[in-house]
Amino acid sequence: MRYISTRGGIDPISFTDAVMMGLATDGGLLLPEAIPDMHDRLAGLQSLPYPRLAVEIIREFVGDDIADDDLTDLITRSYVTFDHPEVAPIVPVGNVFILELFHGPTLAFKDFALQFLGNVFEYILTRQHRRLNILGVTSGDTGSAAIHGVRGKANINIFIIHPHQRISQVQERQMTSVLDENVFNIAIEGSFDDGQRIMKELFTDLEFKENFVLGAVNSVNWARIAAQIVYYFFAACRVCKSTGRERVQISVPTGNFGDIFAGYMALKMGAPIARLILATNDNDILARFFRTGVYAAGNVVSTLSPSMDIQVASNFERYLYHLLNRNPRRLTLAMEKFAETGEFSVPSASPNDVDPIFRAGVGDTDATLSIIRRYFEGHGYVLDPHTAVGAVVAEKFRDPDLPTICLATAHPAKFSESVTRATGRYVARHDSIDSLADLPTRLDVLPADRNAVRDYMMKKLG
Ligand SMILES: *Cc1c(COP(=O)(O)O)cnc(C)c1O
Repeated sequence: MRYISTRGGIDPISFTDAVMMGLATDGGLLLPEAIPDMHDRLAGLQSLPYPRLAVEIIREFVGDDIADDDLTDLITRSYVTFDHPEVAPIVPVGNVFILELFHGPTLAFKDFALQFLGNVFEYILTRQHRRLNILGVTSGDTGSAAIHGVRGKANINIFIIHPHQRISQVQERQMTSVLDENVFNIAIEGSFDDGQRIMKELFTDLEFKENFVLGAVNSVNWARIAAQIVYYFFAACRVCKSTGRERVQISVPTGNFGDIFAGYMALKMGAPIARLILATNDNDILARFFRTGVYAAGNVVSTLSPSMDIQVASNFERYLYHLLNRNPRRLTLAMEKFAETGEFSVPSASPNDVDPIFRAGVGDTDATLSIIRRYFEGHGYVLDPHTAVGAVVAEKFRDPDLPTICLATAHPAKFSESVTRATGRYVARHDSIDSLADLPTRLDVLPADRNAVRDYMMKKLG
């Protein structure tokens, strides 16, 4: 399998090169040249355990770059860290099926991608006798999933910046309690935006970047998407089998459009999915797009589902490329228009007609709190606020002919304050979060200044 850029500016490259490149060098996003077709193989995939299914699907994207035995080993190791034997259990609750994606080490679905990406990085670097220093900034979930993905791995160091005392205790401790020698937590005396600025400045300091082989844990790395496609096949096949239906619909709480883009790929590859329900919180740029055809940035507001507090979705360009008939010129023009004016539109014959595969809607704060309470009181099941947004929008598109799967993207214990506010009781807890309070932690506090961060990294790397 070869990879091309949405902007059309690079020669096709291998899976390995695509993983190491992250963002395409022409400013676009990398995509496989063709979408693998699994329609004829569905019957054989239907009952495979999760890691076996993952090998079958991910192999389509890896091609010959990783030998079969090595790929099997790497995928097996990525999911033995999960605390449930089925890896992604499916729980019937009321009239939906909840796909629990929170059994990984940081209790959020990002572990599916980042446990795999950490192992892929290690495999490639070891074989190429290279090293990589990852630098990232986080306001919460991604940083901890990335740290847990590469902790203790050969040839990789990871430096994660977070705003000092401005992220939740749980999120801070999930990162700073990782004491492996290759993990460096930097708390800057400033905001998340200061962290982003520092990171941008260091990545454009080309001498530093090259001397220190700096890389990003990109939310746009193709390996992350490939790993996420697996659970769409897994859930759709199993729910079809248990209900005797031919297809399902799947509701996805969406921020950067990475997760739901994996669902779109799965559908195109042949997973038995009739449509995808895109759910946003009040940061609703994507929901507006699918209802009106207009993509227009607004201001980010904070909500109960902070991992979805995003306006400009970094993975959306991949979908747009397909929507614009895989024409890199049209895509580039649309993105340039957006960069200049903050807006562009695609033709849509009627409302809700941008793409029949998608239904889109918004779950606001009241609806989020109220559905958490109703699920708890009615079914004894506790939703986290991100999952709740997906459940709210799924209710709007209920269809007697289509079983509905709701992706549960985080364990409720990660957001227990909101859950307590919704239910009036302390019902969201998890042993691994309770035990965080007693673990030793390590972090270094630095001024919000690029030279301070650069000197720190130089000292740590010798
Ligand atoms: C990152 C995240 C999301 C949003 O996923 P995208 O791929 O950015 O759309 C939803 N829920 C949780 C808990 C997350 O951490």
